[in-house]
Amino acid sequence: MLSLETAREQILSAIRPLPADLVPLTRTAGRWLAADLASPLDLPPFDNSAMDGYAVSSAGLLQASASKPMPLRCRGETPAGDVPGPALRAGECWRIFTGAPLPAGADAVVMQEDKRIDPAQPETVWVQDAVRPWDNVRFRGEDLKAGAVIARSGERLNFAKLAVLGAVGLDKISVTRRPVVGLLATGNELVEPGGELASGQIFESNRLMIDALVRTTGCEPVIYPIVRDEPDATRNALAEAFARCEVVITTGGVSVGAHDHVKAAFENLGGQLEFWKIAIRPGKPFVWGRLRERNLFGLPGNPVSAAVTFLLLVRPALIRLQGGTDWNLPVTKATLASPVSNPGQRRHFVRVRMDELGGAVPVGLQGSHVLSGLAEAHGLLDVPPATNWESGRPVEVLRFP
Ligand code: AMP
Ligand code: MG
Repeated sequence: MLSLETAREQILSAIRPLPADLVPLTRTAGRWLAADLASPLDLPPFDNSAMDGYAVSSAGLLQASASKPMPLRCRGETPAGDVPGPALRAGECWRIFTGAPLPAGADAVVMQEDKRIDPAQPETVWVQDAVRPWDNVRFRGEDLKAGAVIARSGERLNFAKLAVLGAVGLDKISVTRRPVVGLLATGNELVEPGGELASGQIFESNRLMIDALVRTTGCEPVIYPIVRDEPDATRNALAEAFARCEVVITTGGVSVGAHDHVKAAFENLGGQLEFWKIAIRPGKPFVWGRLRERNLFGLPGNPVSAAVTFLLLVRPALIRLQGGTDWNLPVTKATLASPVSNPGQRRHFVRVRMDELGGAVPVGLQGSHVLSGLAEAHGLLDVPPATNWESGRPVEVLRFP
């Protein structure tokens, strides 16, 4: 049996990222950058006010206080978006709002809360608090200097990256093409959601689950109809999916049973097959195959096995296909809340829930068909073979994306 790491390494070393497209920034959330990006300008682009208040020259205002207010004559105002006001002269100030440019000669902004105005003399602003040079001023380039690298090839564009790219004025950027991922479920026992269950039948739920997982990687899933356990039906369904999709994910039909047709049907289409028993539980068996530059991932039919193999093997491949470099699941340190044992020969990926105290609690029955435990869990605990862990042990939980 193959180790998880060896299997993953083989897949990742065979996969090349898809080509990149120039895409409007507004369409790139969750996608993967295909080139380093530098800021074309200083951010902020000009010195500006951090507050609503009065632009002043700080010289002589260090001594201002409530008991010794200092008067300045206000000659006009600059709202955000306007050009700077005229240069300040001695004894003057200029009304200014957050984000507005400072007039020449101003080196500080007095917060509007720190002044007093006598209604009889509305043009005179009494400064009631000490002013130091550069109080409440945001400097040109203090956030970013023109030319600074702001995002790197292989990074994923989240809300914050997008904000910075937008703020420096980029409007189209190079992102890796999103793979179209076809989802097929095989099994005569499966019924489409909304249908009627006859004796011996169950509702199909894997496509829905994998669809949600595929979306977390930024790929575009396409759901195909349920495939009957017949050689021709399986071959036709794979042919249709591969005509459109860079990646096809099937569930079920990859064991050694008489009704498992995925492998033969794929080879029949000209696909090159790698079929592995991977030394993890739940999870074996797992199929990876290539048809021209396209990939088949054949997951086990049991839903928990399908989810675990997706997370550990397919998710990294989908990220790699988009040029991403960080395919590890996020890790949270936790304390084991109840004992865990793995008497078996294979690593066991135990479903755990995180409690409010930072504990990792194994959930429910750990069978590969048990969906209630999976639905309660926040992640997986990688428990080595022949292991007994006491509660209280520090552990690392691989979080669901
Ligand atoms: P298989 O891998 O085809 O032998 O299926 C293993 C187990 O998973 C069987 O109990 C199937 O009924 C179940 N199963 C297979 N595919 C699905 C599916 N798409 N949704 C729910 N259960 C499934
Ligand atoms: Mg089956």
